[in-house]
Amino acid sequence: MRRCPVCAVDVEGAWTRCPLCAAPLAGEPAPSPLPAVPLRFSRRRVLRALFLASLAVILASLGAQLLFGPDLGGLGVLRSAWLGVAALWLVVLMAVRKRRNLAKGTVYLVVLVGLVTAYWDYLGGWDGWSLTYAVPILCASSIVALLITVRVMRTEIGEHILYSGLTVLLGLAPLVFLALGWVTAALPSVICGALSVVALGMHLARIRHVRHELAKRLHV
Ligand SMILES: [Zn+2]
Repeated sequence: MRRCPVCAVDVEGAWTRCPLCAAPLAGEPAPSPLPAVPLRFSRRRVLRALFLASLAVILASLGAQLLFGPDLGGLGVLRSAWLGVAALWLVVLMAVRKRRNLAKGTVYLVVLVGLVTAYWDYLGGWDGWSLTYAVPILCASSIVALLITVRVMRTEIGEHILYSGLTVLLGLAPLVFLALGWVTAALPSVICGALSVVALGMHLARIRHVRHELAKRLHV
């Protein structure tokens, strides 16, 4: 069994660091006394939530086209919307397959695709569509995907807090570009920011709910 030299406690299972103080453990690992709990979720619920959210993104993009008019040359709102749908599916599928690194994976995805679209925009003579449309749609889709993940899958308080922080970050990024004057139309960034605020409220409500349930179970 491994032992923490700082806390002077024995630790069962495959821990390499002390769960109490994070100091490296010494000794040989002992088999974990806890059963491995498989990740449980309903594939049908995931697919239904994804399908409805994709539909909402596409409808919103069509609405945006009506709002902004058809004068958007090149890669306009509609094509950015497909980017959003793709990002949505990628984030949720990432959550289903390997949920430990979901926050990191989402940040990588948004930054990478954002950079690619910005480079594409730059090559095409820079009319700002990447930061005006693609990045807010990318961020908004990721915010929705994180909400779906929390709704459909069993998540812990730590993950809720992480996803809440990520939601704020994704909502802020387009607003920062807006504040810097890098975008040509304010509305997509503002919508993304508003969505982030709504999503944060839902995450916080969920955290309160989970904490309440825990408190009930632990009698505190
Ligand atoms: Zn320790």
